[in-house]
Amino acid sequence: MADLTWVEVRDAIRLGAGVMLPIGSTEQHGPHLPLATDSLLASSLCLAVAQSVNMLVAPAITYGYRSRPLTGGGQGFVGTTSLRGETLMAMIRDVLREFLRQGFERLVVLNWHYENSNFVYEAAFEALEPHSVAKARIVVFEHGLGKLSDQTVAKVFGGSFPGLAIEHAATYETSLMLHLHPELVHFERAVDDQSARRPWYDVIPTPDAFVSKSGVLWKATEASPEKGKLLWSEIVPQVQEGIVTELDPTQAGK
Ligand SMILES: [Zn+2]
Repeated sequence: MADLTWVEVRDAIRLGAGVMLPIGSTEQHGPHLPLATDSLLASSLCLAVAQSVNMLVAPAITYGYRSRPLTGGGQGFVGTTSLRGETLMAMIRDVLREFLRQGFERLVVLNWHYENSNFVYEAAFEALEPHSVAKARIVVFEHGLGKLSDQTVAKVFGGSFPGLAIEHAATYETSLMLHLHPELVHFERAVDDQSARRPWYDVIPTPDAFVSKSGVLWKATEASPEKGKLLWSEIVPQVQEGIVTELDPTQAGK
């Protein structure tokens, strides 16, 4: 969308185009992945489906909510640059209201940063509230993953998926980055790591034992571009199907 002129965007809206808003973070992703990893993966996923569902991809929200030690390493790392929840929600809400003002009726919010999840839903809810009588509709992907098949889980993770919370800068994200943006991955620096303690609750201020030294929360060295390709081949169609089901252009306004 940012590469288009306003005239082109206006004409696209007239032809029923929707808009996708990728949401990521600027956050440490271990010694081997760039700070932009979440924003890049959110944008890549939007770009992978946009054309087939008649959507433009808006410039990403590249800052996210506070990194938490047990799901993102925490705020102790240089480079992790985060927003308070209210700032993030205000930014997403304002951007979505701008899209609604411009006439978009089919909207998608796609988040890749684990800690953003509920804030993204709340912002989308608030954005649409004053327009609740309008035709507009927003599909919220709080994360970019529906479900992985048993075969893929076996091939990529050797049996069971550890979960998105712990798969930070580990096999899942590293494999996807090796597949999509290999020039940004320093795979020779990848390590397997974990925090000394990982309870089911959280503590403030952050105990040192909750923080992994490298910023990797699980196994990064088992990543590969082949695993990334396989994961991507399951992730992309699920997002596409969700959009077609909820925002089919032929169903607009019904
Ligand atoms: Zn990430």
